[in-house]
Amino acid sequence: MNFRELEERLNKVASWRPSFSKTLRASDVGHPCNRYLFYRLTCPEKEAPGDIDLRQVFEEGKEQERIVLRMLLDAGVKVEGEETAFEWMGVVGHVDGFILLDGTRYPIEIKSVSPNVFEKFQTIDDIRKARKWYYKKWFDQLQIYLLLTNSEVGLFFLKNKGRRQVRILPVEIDLDHLVELEKKVKAVYEAVRVKKEPDRIPYCDICIDCGFIATCQPTPPYDLPFDLTSLLPLIEEKAELEGFYKRYQELDKIIKDQAKRNPIGNYEIGRWVVEISEVVREEKPRPAQTIKFKMVKIYEKEA
Ligand code: SF4
Repeated sequence: MNFRELEERLNKVASWRPSFSKTLRASDVGHPCNRYLFYRLTCPEKEAPGDIDLRQVFEEGKEQERIVLRMLLDAGVKVEGEETAFEWMGVVGHVDGFILLDGTRYPIEIKSVSPNVFEKFQTIDDIRKARKWYYKKWFDQLQIYLLLTNSEVGLFFLKNKGRRQVRILPVEIDLDHLVELEKKVKAVYEAVRVKKEPDRIPYCDICIDCGFIATCQPTPPYDLPFDLTSLLPLIEEKAELEGFYKRYQELDKIIKDQAKRNPIGNYEIGRWVVEISEVVREEKPRPAQTIKFKMVKIYEKEA
């Protein structure tokens, strides 16, 4: 085996296979599109395989989970009932485990995130309000686990993938939220019963990443005619801001060009910190290719 073959072997991940389960998973219930959940139950074989990058991220997540379990063990905390399975209204879930702290038994859920995201998620509200839907659904998942395990509070163990660092976020059961999840689950199973696809969500990045996009065939908004006159107030506002934007860019350039003359470091000036750092980036040559795109230019009519 040469080093390239070794590299290939090291980077190999389990091959992708669709889930043929006829029940929803707690980790999926928070998916924003009921139609996606419908397809998961009715035609899982049509789901496009996730790309290798995604599968490697998933594998790394499992490894990070093992690290957190070892950290708990090192801290003298025993994790019980790992991967205990539960079912609620046709939704199955596997709790990562339970820990006992000060006489209270908590279900735990371990998630690993990049150092950037780790810094952003300081409270459970940060997860609930996250921009990305796949973070938001963690909250739904843990709510279902709380119900399934008859617990009032559960603990998210958020692991920083960049280093040996964990943040524990407590989550209280939210019965109103569970009522909404229950309605959602019922709606999906009813759609399966009557064999009618739920409506599509408005086309967005969720559709772009959706494994059922070929089955669903949503219409991208730019393929639909759009009333351009509705953009007039925005075009006017943009024109008003143009002067500010130009000046902003000018000032930004002057300030940064002058600041760069100083050595690397952080400098406090009034209420501002000027951070001067060195960035080293490896530029990969890109192969020549023809790309096709729509271009929009907006300018004032000649008088
Ligand atoms: S492509 Fe969009 S609308 Fe269709 S199932 Fe997927 S997420 Fe839902």
